[in-house]
Amino acid sequence: MTKKKSVHVDVAIIGGGVPGLVLAGLLAHAGISVRIIDPQPPADATKLKPSSRTVALLNNSLNILAAAGLQDPARYGAPLQTMRLVDDSHPKARVIKVDFRAEDLSETQYGTNIPLNILRARLATLHRKMMRITTLKSFTVQAHSVQLALSDGLQIHAKLVVGADGRKSLIREKSDIPLWKHDYHQSALTFIINHSRPHHNIATEFHRCGGPLALVPLPGKQSSVVWVMPTDEAERTLRLKKSDFESAFQKALGQHMGQVTLVDTPACWPLILLKAKCLTAPRIALIAESAHVISPITAQGLNLSLRDAAALAESIITHVRLGLDAGDPAVLRGYENARRLDLNTRIYGVHSLHQMVSTQSPALRSVRRGGLQLINGIGPLKKMAMKAGLG
Ligand SMILES: Cc1cc2nc3c(=O)[nH]c(=O)nc-3n(C[C@H](O)[C@H](O)[C@H](O)COP(=O)(O)OP(=O)(O)OC[C@H]3O[C@@H](n4cnc5c(N)ncnc54)[C@H](O)[C@@H]3O)c2cc1C
Repeated sequence: MTKKKSVHVDVAIIGGGVPGLVLAGLLAHAGISVRIIDPQPPADATKLKPSSRTVALLNNSLNILAAAGLQDPARYGAPLQTMRLVDDSHPKARVIKVDFRAEDLSETQYGTNIPLNILRARLATLHRKMMRITTLKSFTVQAHSVQLALSDGLQIHAKLVVGADGRKSLIREKSDIPLWKHDYHQSALTFIINHSRPHHNIATEFHRCGGPLALVPLPGKQSSVVWVMPTDEAERTLRLKKSDFESAFQKALGQHMGQVTLVDTPACWPLILLKAKCLTAPRIALIAESAHVISPITAQGLNLSLRDAAALAESIITHVRLGLDAGDPAVLRGYENARRLDLNTRIYGVHSLHQMVSTQSPALRSVRRGGLQLINGIGPLKKMAMKAGLG
């Protein structure tokens, strides 16, 4: 009988999406031994067409990416200099438009909008040596380590296992971590458009009945679109032929960006809210969508996930330097405490905002419009809202 190959590491990260890869980069930089397990091999970023799924990353997220080894993420996207909210939900009342300019906070930009597939490809290529291209089959938590069985036959012994394996996380499920889940019965259509008018690096979110619609700048006269609507309507819209889809979208958008044409094939993402009731179990930590999935409104999801990766890396590095192992209860407590406030305020905040923005109730719509006018009218309040948005 052949003996199974096995390796010992400080940290095994299950899931090599952007947050898992960033965590690996931060830990490896501090001399912590890491393996990332993911079935998707790194793609060649220079040969990829940008995906319609783009991510608006704030400046502090770009700093986390740089600390994880990716120095130049901004060169793959477009800068975000103004966030514009437009409320045109009331057919008879005037349109409310509020601009939040980065220059009002003495910043040149809020962040950068980057195609998710290119970001992942760049990070995976950078951290290729730490990756094992396979899936996790099973794992057993023991007193001093976790034993992992991979589908390719390798066994890993890790002091800590990180679940970065997305919304259907096996790590979360097998660790019996309870969940809070809500289905919005809405889906987001994502696609890239060319438009005849320039975007001036303004990201615009339209608030209207049925669901929000967001345009986020890409280089040139191009933007990525997130168009939220009830799921049955999204499925019908997705089936339209290209010219009918373009007409439907042009009608929804109006002439804000001039003439629009579709660049790629639209994709559809069902919207849910998911929150793990805790982030850790013995020798287990959850980050990113294995711990929380939120509405794309206000573009917070990956920004939150990168802050998870940074906080967990900090807790591991600090405690390992003190002589503890990477899965010590003190590491897990440090991580859970560091993330509680940010996660709770963002997740509940984004959920409430999503409900307010999608509401059919005229009374709630009036409250929303009043709130937006109030923020716009009071300078210090507007600055506070901008700073809160930047985390
Ligand atoms: C329409 C839309 C727009 C968005 N826009 C923004 C935005 O502008 N800004 C922002 O900050 N966020 C945004 N988000 C959120 C952001 O895209 C996600 O939060 C982020 O991409 C999730 O990353 P993840 O690594 O947690 O999950 P995933 O990207 O799903 O990665 C999980 C990884 O785990 C691997 N995996 C799963 N199971 C196993 C297993 N058993 N073994 C090994 N590997 C496994 C998978 O192969 C995958 O690579 C948006 C989301 C949506 C839906």
